[in-house]
Amino acid sequence: MSQIQFTRNEQPKAKPDANHLGFGKYFTDHMLVMDYTEDQGWHDLQIVPYGPISLDPSAMVFHYGQEVFEGMKAYKTADGRISLFRPDMNLKRLNASCERISIPQVDPEALMEGIVELVSVDREWIPEGDDTSLYLRPFIIATEPCLGVRAAKEYKLMVILSPVGSYYPEGIHPVSIYVEDEYVRAVRGGTGMAKTSGNYASGIKAQEIAKLEGFSQVLWLDGVEKKYIEEVGSMNVFFKIGGEVITPELSGSILAGVTRDSAIALLRSWGLPVTERKLSVAELFQAARDGKLEEAFGTGTAAVISPIGTMKWGDEQISIAGGDTGEWSRKLYEAITGIQKGLLDDPFGWRQIIL
Ligand code: PMP
Repeated sequence: MSQIQFTRNEQPKAKPDANHLGFGKYFTDHMLVMDYTEDQGWHDLQIVPYGPISLDPSAMVFHYGQEVFEGMKAYKTADGRISLFRPDMNLKRLNASCERISIPQVDPEALMEGIVELVSVDREWIPEGDDTSLYLRPFIIATEPCLGVRAAKEYKLMVILSPVGSYYPEGIHPVSIYVEDEYVRAVRGGTGMAKTSGNYASGIKAQEIAKLEGFSQVLWLDGVEKKYIEEVGSMNVFFKIGGEVITPELSGSILAGVTRDSAIALLRSWGLPVTERKLSVAELFQAARDGKLEEAFGTGTAAVISPIGTMKWGDEQISIAGGDTGEWSRKLYEAITGIQKGLLDDPFGWRQIIL
């Protein structure tokens, strides 16, 4: 275990029932921590017992929200190994988020080594049932005690692990979506392309309204004209219209999803044309009226593929793929989860066996 200091948890917890994990409710016995100071840079990578941390009430993260995070999953493969899915992309995105939020860059190799060690220590926590995995949540917070609006000089990086089942109780079943045309998630020039907590805090209000209206998620429009489609909930979004798959181009306010990138590559490898371009909600609803909207789905690490069954915009409600899971949504879900779990060939080399 090279430079990594390890303190074993002498009071391990009972593992939760693998059939009722939900998402993000249980945490393993250990966590990774690493600190940053101006003098030492990132230092002291440790694996320690999972538990509360102590912070000064003036820690800058509490006041100005200097924080970034990531989300990825570890899987037990069919032959008993442990794999991650394209973790290099998550670590690259972590540093891209850091750059936007003025947090010092992290050495991806050192962090990866720590993550592998942490997953190894808590490997018994990786659930094996269908639709289950171990969710990894790396995050960085500004810890310097100071009420000054500027980049902090001290930070803490942590990685916590959570055994999870399906993100949505619906699983791969279609969800209902509410087109949000008042609140926006992000604007170009803002922080939409970074994975930072403020983006999510500002999205909660719209999500609550959608829930009250009986919908499970929000379709986000661009922050200027409220005309073009950006994302769905905390997922990227795809539409199949007249045989062509369209996904919003990465405009600066959209998060570059790892699952988005994988879905584009897979669909193209299957011969489907995929276009990354602006798509207005008016064009989408017209395609639906013309009978050309064949499928719609969200993509993200948590749910992998989330088919969209119905969508409401103003007074108009459309049903997509007859409210069922479309053919390509299912194919993508099976291909991506099959690659992740080692049940299918991995033509793009996305599966990274770590143990
Ligand atoms: N958009 C947002 C806002 C997200 O939070 C996520 C989840 N990370 C995604 C898209 C999907 O990204 P990924 O496929 O990398 O999980």
